[in-house]
Amino acid sequence: MIHSLAGLLDEGGISRERPFREPHSTASMAAIIGGGRSAKPGEVSLAHNGVLFMDEFPEFPRHVLETLRQPIETGEVMVARANAHVKYPSRFMLIAAANPCRCGYMSDPARACARAPECGADYLGRISGPLLDRFDLRVDVPPVAYRDLELPCDSEPSAEVARRIAAARDRQATRYAETLHCTVNADAEGSVLQKFATPSLDGQALLLEIAERFGLTARGYHRVMRVARTIADLAGSEAVERAHIAEAASFRLPTGQIRSQPRNSRKAAAAAQPEKMAMANDSRP
Ligand SMILES: [Zn+2]
Repeated sequence: MIHSLAGLLDEGGISRERPFREPHSTASMAAIIGGGRSAKPGEVSLAHNGVLFMDEFPEFPRHVLETLRQPIETGEVMVARANAHVKYPSRFMLIAAANPCRCGYMSDPARACARAPECGADYLGRISGPLLDRFDLRVDVPPVAYRDLELPCDSEPSAEVARRIAAARDRQATRYAETLHCTVNADAEGSVLQKFATPSLDGQALLLEIAERFGLTARGYHRVMRVARTIADLAGSEAVERAHIAEAASFRLPTGQIRSQPRNSRKAAAAAQPEKMAMANDSRP
């Protein structure tokens, strides 16, 4: 429907595919959020129920980045015109990628950045704390040497991962079958989150300790609970255990202590150009 409004569909068809949108960092506010003369939906709405991928995230204008906070939080966006306000749905999974610093060589020993560490602090500092707080998973992707690309891949095959994900989603569908407005862990809030994602006693103790030590915001605390619930689901575990909390929290460490991937991971190879930080937020149903 949104794609139809935006005039992106041929012959009045309807799209049944989950969208993948990849706006460029030079895109205007209206193109990302929505607007223009006829208050058209922007990329955040065109990505509804799908993925919004923003490469070179710090290169987007600051006011555009800050405006993302509302749709991330509420799953809707208000597009204002002189004589009309239009509300569009915008529940998307935000995937952002960034070099560690402007020149991109911050942690490459072969081509060290001359302005480190300020180069990285200035560059990643364009992403505000409240915006970064809304990312559930932050992963450091180290550069991969060409000779390592030839190494055999020892990670779990994608088909296997897809099966685990399908099983985890089935588990969530069963869990939330009786709960209104909630189909997956990302939708769980308040009492629903407490009921289904409260960890075991030693898991709770660890979560409190992490919250105090790293100064987690209330939002961050609940996001760790949701991610831990999903990690437990992927592991086929009914209870959220201490290990699930530890893993969820490891994805949320302060910038500069971002979680590392194995050096010769193929996934890292695909994303590293020369080094990127990938961040994901899932508010998608
Ligand atoms: Zn640099």
